[in-house]
Order: sequence, then C-alpha cells, then structure tokens
Amino acid sequence: MAGPDTPPVHFVIAGGGSAGWISAAVLARFLPPPAARITLVESEDIGIIGVGEATVPLIGELNRFLGIHEPEFVAATNGTFKLGIEFADWGEIGNRHFHGFGDYGADIAGLPVHQHWLRLAREGQIPALGDFSMAEVLASQDRFVPHEALSGEAAQFRHAFHFDAALYAAYLRRLAEGMGVTRVEGRIENVARDAQSGHVRALQLYGDRRVEGDVFLDCTGFASLLLGQAQGVGFEDWSQWLPCDRAAAVPCARAGRFTPFTRSSAKEAGWQWRIPLQNRTGNGHVYSSAHISDDEAVVQLLASLDGEALAEPRLLRFTPGRRNRFWEGNVIAIGLAAGFLEPLESTAIQLIQTGVTRLVEFLPGKVPDPALAAEYNRQTALEYERIRDFIIAHYCRTRRTEPLWRQVAAMDLPGTLRAKLDAWDACGRVPMYDLESHQEPSWVAILLGQGVLPRAVNPRTHLLPERDLRALLDQRRTTLARAAERLPDHATFIAKTCAAKPSPAA
Ligand SMILES: Cc1cc2nc3c(=O)[nH]c(=O)nc-3n(C[C@H](O)[C@H](O)[C@H](O)COP(=O)(O)OP(=O)(O)OC[C@H]3O[C@@H](n4cnc5c(N)ncnc54)[C@H](O)[C@@H]3O)c2cc1C
Repeated sequence: MAGPDTPPVHFVIAGGGSAGWISAAVLARFLPPPAARITLVESEDIGIIGVGEATVPLIGELNRFLGIHEPEFVAATNGTFKLGIEFADWGEIGNRHFHGFGDYGADIAGLPVHQHWLRLAREGQIPALGDFSMAEVLASQDRFVPHEALSGEAAQFRHAFHFDAALYAAYLRRLAEGMGVTRVEGRIENVARDAQSGHVRALQLYGDRRVEGDVFLDCTGFASLLLGQAQGVGFEDWSQWLPCDRAAAVPCARAGRFTPFTRSSAKEAGWQWRIPLQNRTGNGHVYSSAHISDDEAVVQLLASLDGEALAEPRLLRFTPGRRNRFWEGNVIAIGLAAGFLEPLESTAIQLIQTGVTRLVEFLPGKVPDPALAAEYNRQTALEYERIRDFIIAHYCRTRRTEPLWRQVAAMDLPGTLRAKLDAWDACGRVPMYDLESHQEPSWVAILLGQGVLPRAVNPRTHLLPERDLRALLDQRRTTLARAAERLPDHATFIAKTCAAKPSPAA
C-alpha cells in the first residue's frame, strides 16, 4: 500500500470490543507497520457488550492467520470446544436435534447421504441420521478431539470454541498491540466530517483530543457512532421475521454435563442458551418483548440454571437487522455497528471476521474508491441475508402453539427462503446461493431435525439395492462409533491440553 514515496494509510478503529480488536489484529497482520498505521480508540468507561461466547468453525482460519496457538488461546479465555448446537423443544415440545459442524459423510452414488436416509426411512427402520455425523456422535458422548487427530470418515467434522468474551477481547488486544497497533483511551465526543465530501476526518475525544485518520472503522457496537449516527446510514429492520428483541444473560456455577456443544432450548416466548466454559456456564434467555415481560423472562432464566447464579442477570435490547450500507465514504462498520442477528447460530463473530477479511480484499487507499464500497456492500448484504434466512428456518416450520410460535409459523417469508423451503418440500434438497455461510448439511440438520419431511426424494436413490445401501450405511455408522469409543471426554481433553490457570483471586 505504502510505496517508498507514499505515506502509509492511517486506519482509525473506533471501539475495542471483539469487532475492534479482531479488525485491528487482521489489519496489522496484512499491513504490518510501516505499511499502514493503525490506531484504536476505546473507552473503558463505556466498556464492551461482554456477551458473544460461542463461535463457528471459521474462527479456526482466523486463529491460523493471526498465528494464534489454540491451546494457549483456549487456556487464556477459559475456553471450551464446540462441535455444534443441540436444539431442545424446537419444532415441538419434546423434540431434540443437533446441528453438528460437518456433514453426514461422503455422497453415495452421487447423492447426499440424507437423500438415501430419507428413502430408507420411508421403507422401514433406520438409525438416526445423526449417527452418520462424527460431530454428533462425539457430542452425544461428551467426547472431544480435534479432527486433525483422526483420519478417514471419522475426521469429517470441525470444531469451534466457547470462551469468555471479556477475556477474548483482552487476548486480542495483547495480540494486536504486539503487532504495532496503537491504543488510545478516550471517549468519542464528536465525529468531525469534511463539509464537501462527507468523509470523516477525525474523532474528537473528551478532553480536547483529536484522532485524525484516512480510513475509519466503526466498531462502536450498537451505538454505530460513525456509520449510523455521523454518516446517517439507515437501518433495515428485520423484526417482522425475527421477533426476539431482548436478552437476559447470567453466568452460573458449573454443574451438569460438561458438553462440547452449545445447548439452545426453545421457550414459550423465545429460547435459552447454555454455554459451558472451564470456570462457569454462560446462560441467556433471548425473547420477544411483545410476548413476555423482562421480569418473567428473568424468572424463567433463573429457574432453569444448572447451578447457582454468579451475578445479577443483565438485560440487553437489540433490533435484528443490518445497516443499509456497511461502507460509506471512508467509514466501514464492523460488528454490532453494522448489524445484528439474534445469536441462535453464533454468527456475529463470524461476520466480524468475514467483514474485515473482505475489507482487506477490497483494501481502500487514502481516498477510498466508491466502486470498492459498492462491491463490499453488495457482498456483505448478501451474507447477512443468507444467515437471516437460515435463522428464520429454525422458527418458521414450528408446530408449537404459544403465541410467539404461532406468529412465526404464519408469517410471510423472504422470497429467498421461500424458494429454498419449496425446493426442500418438493425433493429434499436445499439450493445453495452465493455467499452462503451454512451449507446443505446444516439446513438438513435443522429441517429434518424438526421433523420437516419432504414430499419426495430423488428417484435415483432407488438405483442402489436396499440391502447394499443398508450394509454401506451400517459400515459407516460402525466406523464412527468405534472411532469415538477410543477418544477422551471433553473434560479430560481440556485438562490435558489447555486447562486455564486459576486466577490469583480464585
Ligand atoms: C444477547 C447477545 C448474545 C450474543 N451471543 C453471541 C455469540 O454467542 N456468538 C457471537 O459470535 N456473537 C454473539 N453476540 C454478538 C457479539 O457479542 C458481538 O458481535 C461482539 O461482541 C462484538 O461486539 P462489538 O465489538 O461490535 O461491540 P461492543 O463489544 O459493544 O464494543 C463497542 C466498543 O465501542 C466502544 N465505544 C462505544 N461508544 C464509544 C465512545 N463514545 N467513545 C469511545 N468508545 C466507544 C466501547 O467502549 C467498546 O470498546 C451476542 C450479542 C448479544 C446481544
């Protein structure tokens, strides 16, 4: 970027939550000083949102890119491993299904395994589809090793992490500062803009300090100080499809199973998360304020904790949706400043990662080109919409009867989701579009898991004699079961490889 005669671009990052520090570290890795200058402004008084404790496997790529040593990272953040999400009482009360990270094994005769499974399920008894997902097999027994420790069919899965969000931001800060990022402590009072171009020129801090720059990243969380407030970029509200708009969060003492997965339990007016960390369990109730009061939501949350509550519940309000544009002039919003979808599939940190990676791909110079902004905005909008559709798919085929669930079962769906579900109903396939975060096996896990059966399957499934198919599936199932039997449980794996050091105060 900076040639011998050109001064380096100065990136100014407003905000030091996960969005700010991930962005800082990624930019610093791509453009180590003196190729660029990177300054991050944050306010300890305001603090960070402090939730965001579950991730998706893409984070492994971020870790590798940043040179993070995973056992050290897990130990430093009180982290644990995540093989997927167990859904309880979605679809209908009593239902349980698992969205594992991975697939159901290699295609058979050119068709995905679930198609053959559907054929056999129509013709008689068949093992659960989850028996063909190594992530689910391991999760059901609370066992864990990374896929790199295995080979063949047993290695067809991925993992992500759970961690303490505050420790994660602190970890990233150490990393980014070590890569040459300058941190400025201060509260942003005003955003100075150029009268003609509308570009941001400087952040005005309390105490008469000013931070000038070329390109500004808005990582100020829900406040969206630069993009939303200063640049006036509007917000596309998606609450007609995603009515949950509040959350109550509370940590509790560790008790019960030490699961290598997140649990999401549907409730009368929303759903509840359970995230096991090494030193505590994170819990939250995400709910629709039109269907339950804050007080009642907190009562329900506290009533279903595994162990003693370790703090007062925190209430958080949000509007699901995204900014109309993510990049305007010389401001790019990353993280909550750009948009938010409820945390059902833990996609917010992923969107931070893909947002800053895409920014690097279309890297702006000192004066960003509007053509780059247009392409960045097009791709980012699609990515948000694909995830939105996937999350809505968890709700819209429910058979639950409480008012929230009746509302979501009756709503008009976005056209893109309608088309996917129509295809599923017709033949048990889910068409994949550009910029999908969730591939077909994830959709199958959610739809079949809730008992949403297609009307027909591909007639080519019948080309394979039933006996041969059953024998092949049996062999695969046995391979996974045998491989799992030999593996350590989640607690043992952590104790041996990445146990957190007890804090001095403990
Ligand atoms: C209920 C809930 C559950 C969630 N669960 C998950 C999950 O499981 N997985 C996941 O991936 N994501 C989850 N998220 C999202 C996740 O928390 C965020 O995406 C992530 O923490 C990044 O937040 P952020 O950095 O954008 O904002 P924040 O953490 O809010 O950081 C904003 C930063 O801006 C600074 N700032 C703001 N105003 C000023 C000012 N005037 N002057 C100076 N500095 C300022 C703040 O000090 C702070 O440093 C969840 C979110 C919610 C609401």
